[in-house]
Amino acid sequence: MKFNLVFAVCVLFSNHVQAKWTSANASIMGTNIHVEVWAEEASLAENAIQTVFDEMQRINQLMSPYIESSELSKINRLAALKPVIVSEEMFNLIELSVGLSMETEGAFDITFASVGFLYNYQEKIKPKTVQFNQAVKAIDYRHIHLNPKKTSVAFDHPDVKIDLGGIAKGHVVDTSIELLKGLGIQHALVTAGGDTKLLGDRRGRPWMVGIRDPRNKDKQAVTLPLSDNAISTSGDYERYFEQDGERYHHILSPKTGKSVHEVQSVSIIGKRSTLNDGLSTAVFVLGVQAGMDLINKTPGYEAIIMDKHRKMHYSKELKR
Ligand code: ADP
Ligand code: MG
Repeated sequence: MKFNLVFAVCVLFSNHVQAKWTSANASIMGTNIHVEVWAEEASLAENAIQTVFDEMQRINQLMSPYIESSELSKINRLAALKPVIVSEEMFNLIELSVGLSMETEGAFDITFASVGFLYNYQEKIKPKTVQFNQAVKAIDYRHIHLNPKKTSVAFDHPDVKIDLGGIAKGHVVDTSIELLKGLGIQHALVTAGGDTKLLGDRRGRPWMVGIRDPRNKDKQAVTLPLSDNAISTSGDYERYFEQDGERYHHILSPKTGKSVHEVQSVSIIGKRSTLNDGLSTAVFVLGVQAGMDLINKTPGYEAIIMDKHRKMHYSKELKR
């Protein structure tokens, strides 16, 4: 597991007090992590950033499908055989995911992994037709059975696999900001891949958060001023390969088991990063019309979509 730490310190002076913005990057959960905090003491800032990185490592050990000893791997090995008792944190996230499946008519579905785990995007590997035809039958959140009293998870189909890749980073961004608050930090930014949350403002002005152009990583499609808020972006550019003129990417339609091509990028803006993350994946699957309909009836959540023709769409409140 890579764990690169780079601290950058920007010194500012205000009223005799020397206070600083401190930022750092790391590579955890298979993605880029970026943290910025404001603290009057450099030691507090560095401790705060380390706390966030430790939190990301903790969630990775719990939820990674690539770590054999993770709780998620254990569920995938055993839940079709017998109910598996899991941590409350894992139980709550799976329960939230199943709730999102119901609200999105199955567009968000963590059992997508029944097919999803047959892909290796880095090595351009996709499932063979026979494999695919069998696995696709196992995609359905209704195969997941949760017992809140026992905090146990069971599957009623032998081929079901789950993966929290569409929601775990949003979750860790939420828990990280809570930890920073607990340390007395009042201004911070935490980014894990496409999921960003802001604590407070950038001292007197909003944070400026860019949404990248899905076809050019050095260009921003939109820049938004945000404070005390969060934003998640799902795109078809994070994990993909091209073969025979087709783009195979990591967001799958649970109905077909195949990559969705209606849009290039979806950003959701709202207070809870976990929901932004799940909703951005769901809206990516739903497409412009059904996706906007869902967000326009979800109070406190807004959407920006770039469709397959690179046209931008904004939810009701953002248009105003
Ligand atoms: P990232 O920040 O990694 O780009 P996204 O929020 O865009 O993540 O979600 C993509 C990830 O979600 C995929 O890598 C996969 O793990 C998971 N995923 C793919 N399709 C679905 C789906 N239909 N429902 C739930 N999760 C999905
Ligand atoms: Mg997501």
